[in-house]
Amino acid sequence: HLLLMDLKSLIRDVPDFPKPGIVFRDITTLLRDPDGLKHAIDSFTQKFFHAGINADYIVGMESRGFIFGPPLAYQMGAGFIPVRKPGKLPSAVYCIEYELEYGTDCLEIHQDALHPGSKVLIVDDLIATGGTANATARLVKKSGCDVVGFGFIIELQNFQGRKNLPNVPIITLVEYL
Ligand code: 5GP
Repeated sequence: HLLLMDLKSLIRDVPDFPKPGIVFRDITTLLRDPDGLKHAIDSFTQKFFHAGINADYIVGMESRGFIFGPPLAYQMGAGFIPVRKPGKLPSAVYCIEYELEYGTDCLEIHQDALHPGSKVLIVDDLIATGGTANATARLVKKSGCDVVGFGFIIELQNFQGRKNLPNVPIITLVEYL
């Protein structure tokens, strides 16, 4: 059955990237595998369906949220809206600052991208601390919309990122301690 396929075996562990001591979970090896790609998108879609989550828009963050967000939006009959690093979006933006390990960074969304009152699902490849997803949720709220759920292909559970997110369903496909 579709849900039984081992997605984790298609994710490559790259030691010492981007710096010594960090094991990077590389999804490019999953993406290039035709069955793996299909399975990831289909089971993602199924899980949201079974959780009763329906959204008007999927919001995905640069850059791996751009890979998994649009096929999910397509399957759900929703629109896709990109959240980007500063200076990339051409029209007027809302901007949210968030904490990094050292210093802060910014994420932006077009001010007119979301119709106020819309239901929004936030999608990225991976959640660690939840800082990126939390900042994106704040952008959605600033746009006058409700976050109805989150979706991540991978959850790094040790970072307890769920604690940093609002109390809505969080769908994940592969977990690491
Ligand atoms: P957080 O903000 O939850 O601490 O980190 C999540 C963000 O960092 C996501 O946008 C994700 O793409 C990126 N990220 C951090 N570590 C990894 C990793 O090991 N593999 C991948 N694919 N992305 C990572």
